[in-house]
Amino acid sequence: MRDFSHDHRWLSINTATVRAQWPLDRIVDECARRGIRAISPWRDQVAAAGLERVAERLRATGIELSGYCRGGMFPAATDAGRREALDDNRRAIDEAAHLGAPCVVLVVGGLPGALAGHPASKDIAAARRDVRDGIAATLEHSRAARMPLAIEPLHPMYAADRACVNTLEHALDLCDALDPARTGLLGVAVDAYHVWWDPKLEAQIARAGRERLLAFHVCDWLVPTRDLLNDRGMMGDGVIDLPRLRGWVEAAGYAGYSEVEIFSAENWWKRDGGEVLDTCIARHRTAV
Ligand code: ZN
Repeated sequence: MRDFSHDHRWLSINTATVRAQWPLDRIVDECARRGIRAISPWRDQVAAAGLERVAERLRATGIELSGYCRGGMFPAATDAGRREALDDNRRAIDEAAHLGAPCVVLVVGGLPGALAGHPASKDIAAARRDVRDGIAATLEHSRAARMPLAIEPLHPMYAADRACVNTLEHALDLCDALDPARTGLLGVAVDAYHVWWDPKLEAQIARAGRERLLAFHVCDWLVPTRDLLNDRGMMGDGVIDLPRLRGWVEAAGYAGYSEVEIFSAENWWKRDGGEVLDTCIARHRTAV
């Protein structure tokens, strides 16, 4: 297992972590100033800053991407809605390619309409069929653009509104069904926050192997957790044994960035952005 205690060369910052404080171009510059070598930006932040401007800032600073957030959201109540989702995923792939991302992270979606607070269905099996079909269709564009897709299983508490793929096993079953040859174009994003509780986690990480492990996200699970979405903890402040998890992904062949992804409305988003980044660097060394 790699030794993270002396430097932060394998630290990446998911830009949601300081999204409340800074626009994306400032985030890039603040990361560069601290010797942070990678980020994973969100599409709305890229759109707000301008795709070309972001590409230019990345080139100027030498900062890499550890992923691109995000594609997915495949289920829809109508054929038109499903087509719209596919179009949007193709755009996400093109943006990711333009920025030199290693993969597009897929948050696959849940029951149609649920994210907007108006679920149009109770049929989670149908949602899962839309997800499978949506990924299969998106893979064609992914192949043409040579842009891997990373399915991110989300914690089951998000099954209704954000992702009906909730375990690494389920995500890998989709990978095996849609990419049996393990081409490297379809894999998973292992986010400690979503999967740490899973009794099958170690075995499924081993099953994933190097070709399927496309991203590794870290933060911590706070006790108590006060908000289902925006109360993620800084590494070391909660109950996830992050070094153990990192040991598992590295034993399976993962050698990429450890990406810090913290949504924290009442704590980290209220602090100075520089303090947040400096804390990420310190905890990356001691708690990851
Ligand atoms: Zn994540």
